[in-house]
Amino acid sequence: MTELWGNALSRLSSKISQQNFDMWLRPIECCGVKDNTIVLRAPNPYVRLWFESNYMEFVLDEICSDASAEFSVQFAPDREPPEAQVHREARPKRANTASPDRPEAPKVSATEPTHTKQSPGAQRDLETDSHAREDGRSESTQLNSRYTFETFVAGPSNQLAYAAAHAAASSQPPKYNPIFICGGVGLGKTHLLHAIGHHFRNQDPSATVLYLSGERFMNEYIHAIRTSQMHEFRRRYRERCEVLLVDDVQFLAGKDGTQDEFFHTFNALHDTHRQIVLTADRKPFEISDVADRLRTRFAWGLLADIEPPELEVRVAILRKKAAAESIRLPDDVALYIASAIKSNVRELEGALIRLAAYASLSQRKIDLPFAQETLEGSVTRPREHLTSDAIIKSVAHYYGLKVSDIKSSRRHKSVAGPRAVAMYLARTHTADSYPDLGRAFGGKHHTTVISAVEKITNRIKNDPSLRGEIHAIEGVLLR
Ligand code: ADP
Ligand code: MG
Repeated sequence: MTELWGNALSRLSSKISQQNFDMWLRPIECCGVKDNTIVLRAPNPYVRLWFESNYMEFVLDEICSDASAEFSVQFAPDREPPEAQVHREARPKRANTASPDRPEAPKVSATEPTHTKQSPGAQRDLETDSHAREDGRSESTQLNSRYTFETFVAGPSNQLAYAAAHAAASSQPPKYNPIFICGGVGLGKTHLLHAIGHHFRNQDPSATVLYLSGERFMNEYIHAIRTSQMHEFRRRYRERCEVLLVDDVQFLAGKDGTQDEFFHTFNALHDTHRQIVLTADRKPFEISDVADRLRTRFAWGLLADIEPPELEVRVAILRKKAAAESIRLPDDVALYIASAIKSNVRELEGALIRLAAYASLSQRKIDLPFAQETLEGSVTRPREHLTSDAIIKSVAHYYGLKVSDIKSSRRHKSVAGPRAVAMYLARTHTADSYPDLGRAFGGKHHTTVISAVEKITNRIKNDPSLRGEIHAIEGVLLR
């Protein structure tokens, strides 16, 4: 395992700055592996949080594909309690009594929920299901315990989505069905979906609440076809399911077979008054390549849009997050961060965690001069250098393709379209020349790249759905 871990880190080190590597990755220790769970230890909770939200998925991806096996990550208790490092406020009570930050927490099991990554095609997202699985194993993954209504800050920009989520979680039979929550990256869609799941489960612990992404729905569907388990698949999603929460349904665009299955799943649940909640990065009518009958159903119930939060809400989110992580955050510092980061709550939280980590490592108190000194660069500086490879990887992931498809010469529109988008993004976000880009895309002639870039540049002017897709990919690349 040490070797797999080392390999994954060294690949990551070539993609991020030395400073970030030394700050966030070097201090993490790989303590070993137990039953396919990699046990890591971080010097403090902030480094752990930062690793989890920024690098973990990449590292797990690398390890799983290196080892051709499925792994998850758990953090062992931090080496030093944060009390020793930063001033604390009273620790709020968490629903989950297991706290990763408590020095006395003795066992690996007394840690944060496990983060799981499985080999391609297998289940990956979080889910909750009170029933034992068909194969006799009980479900080991669960909803993220941090994403509840209590930890969500409502304000004018997300009021409707928040109210809709509450309504979904509280009315039986459903008052609005489906509820469709849409908005940009990092604005709380996944958070609300998990909150609904928790709420249902709190009211009725035996309820079968299924949470999954559109991507996983497709993977499971393909797996069921391949292994002749369609009957079980349908029983799970159409019969046993009482509440279906599907994240990022825009992923179904262009996947005709999966859409068809989803259409029938939707009808089966809707006809029997079971709540369906969907999220997407766009409104239903902006999702192209989705059959009209499905798009119409997406808009049958209540459509709730989330906009970037207002300043006051950003400050409130920071305060709440700081309290939850026991970070002492003066008002002027909260205002400073909230004024600098406007459009993505994940980034907002990232800045706070980074600040707390720097304070902890340098034994400094968090005050305005310290925050300005620490965050000034990262708040205003351009982001880490984006490479064509990173862009190709993101685009491939977004469209459910392989990197090798993008680099291939296949001309089918399901591949050529995403390839042109990747070329456009690479031209926009890197300083690479057209011939450089041709090489990065598997040895294409530079004129091929030029015409792809021109084609996309023209198309986005009149095609809101393509524009939406490109913004969504940029949201992930630039976060
Ligand atoms: P999305 O699914 O829309 O991309 P997420 O739900 O993953 O966004 O949210 C990104 C991060 O921001 C999460 O850590 C989430 O808890 C936090 N977040 C977003 N909106 C809020 C909010 N209104 N209150 C509290 N936390 C929020
Ligand atoms: Mg999400």
